[in-house]
Formats: sequence, C-alpha cells, structure tokens
Amino acid sequence: MNKSAFPKKVLILGSGALKIGEAGEFDYSGSQAIKALKEEGIKTILVNPNIATNQTSKNLANEVYFLPVNPYFVEKVIAAERPDAILLSFGGQTALNCGLELDKKGVFKKYGVEVLGEESPIAEAQVIQLFSRIFKSLNVKVLVEVNSIGCKRCRPVYKKLLSAYYRARSRQVCEDCRKRSGANILRVLDCKEEKCQIIKRGAPPIVDHLCEGCRNHFKLFLEFIEGLDLPFTLNHYLVRGLDYYTRTVFEFLPEDFGKMDDETSHAQVALGGGGRYDHLIEILGGRPTPALGAALGIERVIELMKQHSPEEGVEKRPLVFLVQLGELAKKKSLQVFDDFVKCHIPIAESFGKENIKSQLSIANKLQVTYALILGHKEALEGTIILRDMVSGKQETIAISDVAREVKKRLVRR
Ligand SMILES: [Zn+2]
Ligand SMILES: [Zn+2]
Repeated sequence: MNKSAFPKKVLILGSGALKIGEAGEFDYSGSQAIKALKEEGIKTILVNPNIATNQTSKNLANEVYFLPVNPYFVEKVIAAERPDAILLSFGGQTALNCGLELDKKGVFKKYGVEVLGEESPIAEAQVIQLFSRIFKSLNVKVLVEVNSIGCKRCRPVYKKLLSAYYRARSRQVCEDCRKRSGANILRVLDCKEEKCQIIKRGAPPIVDHLCEGCRNHFKLFLEFIEGLDLPFTLNHYLVRGLDYYTRTVFEFLPEDFGKMDDETSHAQVALGGGGRYDHLIEILGGRPTPALGAALGIERVIELMKQHSPEEGVEKRPLVFLVQLGELAKKKSLQVFDDFVKCHIPIAESFGKENIKSQLSIANKLQVTYALILGHKEALEGTIILRDMVSGKQETIAISDVAREVKKRLVRR
C-alpha cells in the first residue's frame, strides 16, 4: 500500500469474548497495530468485548466499543463511524469469520470499507515476537518452530512429489498414512508411528520446493526472526492442521519438548501457534487479502504457569460475575471491572452473551458468591444490583461503592 493511499480512519476487530474454561485468542498484536497506525496519524476504532486485554488499555485506540465481534454489531459500528478501512487479522478466527460474513453481506461495499492486510513477512515475525513476550512475562519458557508450507501455486506440486514418495513406500508406512495420499498427504508428516517417522526423515522437505515468491518471503522472514534474538528452530515437517494456511506457519512448544518421549505429538503439547492465511478470504469469495493470525491455548499455558510458579500468576476462581445489559451498561462495566481488579477480587464476565438468563447461568456454573447486574436504568442512575447467589437476595448499591462493599462482605463470610 503506498503512503498516499493510507486510510484516515481504521476499524480494528479484536477477538471474541474470553471465557473461563475455554481456550481464547490473545490480541496483543492488535495493540501494536494500533500504536503503529496512530504514529501514522490514522484514527483507530477498536471493537473488542474483552475489557481485560491489552488492546483496550486506556487511550490506546481513539474509540473503543465493548461489543461482541459479530456482523450485527460491527455493521452498526461501521454505519456510525464510517471508517475507510478495516483490519481483520488481529482478532484471530472470530474477527476473520466476522469479516467474511460482512463481506458476503456486502457491508464493506455499501460503506466503502477497504479490507487491509499485511503482506510483508515482518508481520509474522512481529506476531512471534509478541507471543514470545507474553510467554516471557508469564515465566513460561518456549521453543518456536517455524516452517513455510508454500502457496496455492507451489504447494500442489510439492504434494504430488510427496505422494509419489509415499506411494513408493506404501508397504513401510502405517494404515493411516497409506490412506492419506491425495488431498490429505501433508498429514503424513504429523504421523507419530515409529516406522512412519523413519520414512518421514527421508521425505523431501517442502522448503526445497517453494516457488520463487514463497522462497523469498521465507528467506526474509528468517532474516527478521534471526534479528529478534529469540530461540527458534526450523521444522521442515511442521504443517499445521488447516488447509488455508499459506507460507509461514509457526508453533510454540514447551522448552523441554525435545526431552519428551517420541509419542508426544505437537498437537498434544503445543502452547499456541499460527500462520499466514493469504488465500482464506479469497477462497470464501472475498478479494485476495493477506492475513495472518495466531492463537494461544490458554489452559495449557496456565498449566505450565502452575508448574513453574505455583503461587504467582495463577488465575483465581472468580467470586463475582458481572452481568451487563445494553450499550450504556457495557461502557460503564469497564470501570466496575477495573475497580474489582484494583481491589484484588477475582471477577468474570461474558460480554459475548446478550441476555440476562444466559449470563446468570454462566455465573451459576462458575459458582460465584455474588452476581452484579448492570442494566440501562442502573447505568443511568449510577447504581448496580448486587445479587447474593446463595440466598438469591438482591439490593441496589451505588456503582462507585460496589467493589469496596463486596470486599467487606467477602471478608465477613
Ligand atoms: Zn509458492
Ligand atoms: Zn503413519
């Protein structure tokens, strides 16, 4: 993109709601994007339902909407804000799916919104760097494995080559690997059977069969990542499970992965991973748009954190659940959330859910002591409803006092 074509106002989609007990997608890379855009003098509007993440830190984006990342709400934001462009590659799968949905509905066309991508391999290096920083801050030591799996031009050629190699050795591999010729041939590289491992070691590596564009991209990527001073290894057989990945793929593994027994597969222990998916938007009917993303398996990361530092950093079971209803309430929720964090009271929310029943049922499942209910009326009055989840008793308190009040009561229990 040349500089004169830079947009003036950009909409950035964060990831979906982070819910306890589910793997979530971190969106730290988005905050870096926001900083970079701001430096260029571009106005940023962020849609992100997670008030606890880095992206939503105060004054980061020019405007933040605490709304679910779904086509319904995002279209409303587009209609209200009229951005020139949208960035989909920072919110993981949720943002991407939402973008595809909006594209299909013709929303981007209707409002003249351009979908922006990032073509340079520096984007992958940045995502890896950011994730490494997250792991470092959590005291989790990781190993990064990288590979290129080519593009729609060179990958089919490589697949044919690999198929031929395996066909010639079909008696020496397991039943599954025999079946994987054709569309699934890359999956043979994931096989954990001992006899297949031996065959795999002799298989042609994909990096030797990349087209010129992919080769240059990968070379440049390696240069970037070498400059980052973090440990990485080239794994010629890393393919990731999804077909829509193109070029760079990467995975974060526990540092001692090499010492684990051979039966342990990447899929079992990977702490996260990602890659580029330049063709995905096109495959689904959109314009060709470079994109990339990564996700963390939060539960595995927390497991490792517990092993390394049993006291610190472990997410505590929430004692309070915040239920919010309506736009104004959502905006006010931020302050409430902040107050509880400051008072060290573990609090949970589910901004992805819209009605009170589904939110209270999550509160029930989490077995919290109190639920806070913030509706439109309360938000206007500056109050909040405190519900004792054991007795079912409810009372209305001033929003500014609620964290201190709950703390007092929790101590008394
Ligand atoms: Zn290629
Ligand atoms: Zn096998």
